[in-house]
Amino acid sequence: MSILVFIEHKDCVLNKTSLEAVTAAQSIGKDLGLKVSVVIPCDKDCALAQEIAGYGLEKVIVAKNAKLGTYTPDGYADAWTEIINKENPQYVVMAHTYQVRDFAPKVATRFGKEVVGDCIRYKAEGGKLVLTRRIFLGKLDADVTVGGDAPYFVTFQSGAFRGDNAEKGSASVETVEVNVGDIRMEAEEPFQEAKASVDLTKSGIIVAVGRGIKSQENIAVAQQLADILGADLAASRPICDAEWLPIDRQIGSSGQTVAPRLYIALGISGAIQHIVGMKNAGTIVAINKDSEAPIFDIADYGIVGDLFEAVPTLVEEIKKAKG
Ligand SMILES: Cc1cc2nc3c(=O)[nH]c(=O)nc-3n(C[C@H](O)[C@H](O)[C@H](O)COP(=O)(O)OP(=O)(O)OC[C@H]3O[C@@H](n4cnc5c(N)ncnc54)[C@H](O)[C@@H]3O)c2cc1C
Repeated sequence: MSILVFIEHKDCVLNKTSLEAVTAAQSIGKDLGLKVSVVIPCDKDCALAQEIAGYGLEKVIVAKNAKLGTYTPDGYADAWTEIINKENPQYVVMAHTYQVRDFAPKVATRFGKEVVGDCIRYKAEGGKLVLTRRIFLGKLDADVTVGGDAPYFVTFQSGAFRGDNAEKGSASVETVEVNVGDIRMEAEEPFQEAKASVDLTKSGIIVAVGRGIKSQENIAVAQQLADILGADLAASRPICDAEWLPIDRQIGSSGQTVAPRLYIALGISGAIQHIVGMKNAGTIVAINKDSEAPIFDIADYGIVGDLFEAVPTLVEEIKKAKG
């Protein structure tokens, strides 16, 4: 029995979150005594295969078919179904990406299974996994076990495991010509990400705002603190989604990863997708009115209180200190 990991790529260029899935699978493999292999759907002898073979894996399987040059749920589901039938894995482990969310339930359904999606951690108990999912916007963690026979389909949230912790090694590469049926959908050109105009990776001090700021007008409150500290302004994703600040100000798994000397989080709860982007800051200060907010778990200094009271006070005190 084994674990199969999905490797996502575009034109043989790796989506790095797949390495997080490899790290997760290697860890599960050790706990449950299972070998780990990966699957790369591709239309050719994928150029990525040799790179992935440098990790501690049993084998790298290239699922090859001319119809797998561009991602389609039909094509990927057919390729996966064939490989799963051939390999008979105990677990299928994937990163919780948009692509995986698109095709994985389709594959799981073909095996009469569900996908335990967006897990943040696991523990091994009695030879099986207990998977933890965050529910009710992070207010509760639910432990989930899956009944029935293998295969079990699991996706892990971005940032739940570190891709750079994937163990190196030397795996064999096997190309399997897979059958792919009708493709019912034609993919459009992917949308172009906005080019970052601010490079927050170079910032020494960052003042970041979250949903606690409540309105676009209130960002002026944070701007005053940023101005007096000579800091750059950044934000959590909901702020950029609402277009209160441009997308290049977003910190986190789908934004920028920063490591300033000082990171001040104003009204940010500390979701894992935000934390992966700023946890390497030298000093983290959090202001949040919820004493249970997860941001306090990683903050060096915390103020439990209303940011609209705390920030103006801070600004005044800094002014005084500066003379
Ligand atoms: C695939 C995926 C990728 C994602 N990528 C990112 C990413 O790159 N970056 C990112 O940030 N998120 C990302 N997210 C979203 C993430 O899961 C969270 O939803 C988001 O980070 C929450 O933002 P927030 O902390 O601003 O808002 P909330 O979670 O709503 O928290 C607001 C906080 O403000 C506090 N608050 C409210 N009023 C006040 C006040 N007056 N004074 C002080 N505190 C107050 C509240 O107590 C609360 O803790 C991603 C999600 C997914 C599924």
